Amino acid sequence: MSFQPEQNVDLAELTTFKIGGQAAFYTVVTSADELPEIFAWLKSNNLPHFILSGGSNTIFDDGTFKGVVIKIDIKGFELLSEDEITTCIRVGAGENWDAIVAKTIDLKLSGIEALSGIPGMCGAAPIQNIGAYGQEIKDTTVSVEVFDTDTGVVTSLTNAECEFEFRNSTFKATQKDRYIITAIILKLSKLPASIPQYKDAISYFKKKNIATPNLPQIRRAILEIRRNKFMDPAVMPNAGSFFKNPIVSEEIANKIMADNPSIKLYPEDTKIIPLGGNKYKIAAGWLIQELGLKGLELEKVRIDPNHALVLENKGGASQKDLKELVSKIQDSAIKKYGIALEPEPVIVEF
Ligand SMILES: Cc1cc2nc3c(=O)[nH]c(=O)nc-3n(C[C@H](O)[C@H](O)[C@H](O)COP(=O)(O)OP(=O)(O)OC[C@H]3O[C@@H](n4cnc5c(N)ncnc54)[C@H](O)[C@@H]3O)c2cc1C
Repeated sequence: MSFQPEQNVDLAELTTFKIGGQAAFYTVVTSADELPEIFAWLKSNNLPHFILSGGSNTIFDDGTFKGVVIKIDIKGFELLSEDEITTCIRVGAGENWDAIVAKTIDLKLSGIEALSGIPGMCGAAPIQNIGAYGQEIKDTTVSVEVFDTDTGVVTSLTNAECEFEFRNSTFKATQKDRYIITAIILKLSKLPASIPQYKDAISYFKKKNIATPNLPQIRRAILEIRRNKFMDPAVMPNAGSFFKNPIVSEEIANKIMADNPSIKLYPEDTKIIPLGGNKYKIAAGWLIQELGLKGLELEKVRIDPNHALVLENKGGASQKDLKELVSKIQDSAIKKYGIALEPEPVIVEF
């Protein structure tokens, strides 16, 4: 067997949060054909694996991972088919997501323009069904090519088989850790795009007096809005939005509104969104702010002073430091409103 992984590799620098210990073994995969040999090696050495792409949604443990961290760097971009109004593309899992969004806009294709500026690689995009400004990758995904670690073969999952939900999919739920995504197939539209129906995007175009923006204008708008919203991980390491927006009962929503009488329900405001069936979605960032925690610092971690949904590594933080801050936020939300805040990034424990 010729597989020879690197040994004792530092993990923190492979993520945008810059937290983590070491991997006993590490390898970069540039073709799905390399995977059967790696998995045969793992089996014969009885070792676990962890799949890594851009590391923008991963927070590693402080210890040593005894198995192999497999970084997916499978490239490729091809036009598969087209008709009058749509074009299907196939993209390798290791392509940079935002570079592909830019490329589809150059090709005058719409469907993922509101997902401009999301860090990470294409293969990770279906894992939590990335979403922003009214679009989610589930809306354009035809299928996903995967290496099935159970059977050792490359196969394909349809959109329905991916079981996409809000920031979730089969890859994080029923089939967690079973599949390695090697390529994604998206169906994009040749029809003109419209303004993303989100407060920030609507007011951006209103201010500029543009009623029917083209795709490059929408991309520019989204990138500008995001620049003002998210701290650049290169400046202050972070993983973007740290908590999922919780879905709560009418009773809890009423209590929040009673405590904050000036709040108006969606669409007048975006902090509390009625979903029907007595369920309400609460903006987690606003909730943390309302709990009085915005800007809180604990050792080497903090809540961003401008955006309460973003937790940051001030330098040299450990996963333990971060977990203390996370627990403090979660305890506070439970105590005041009975709301269980759930982290969005993958917090890896070895
Ligand atoms: C500043 C900032 C802003 C962000 N904004 C958004 C946003 O607007 N919307 C949003 O949805 N997300 C956002 N994110 C989160 C993140 O960018 C996305 O979740 C992204 O898809 C993660 O990609 P990645 O390549 O970095 O994944 P990684 O962190 O490398 O991996 C994430 C998870 O996917 C698994 N995985 C990765 N690749 C594969 C593969 N090929 N096959 C199987 N499993 C795999 C990993 O094991 C891990 O569990 C943001 C993050 C940051 C830092």
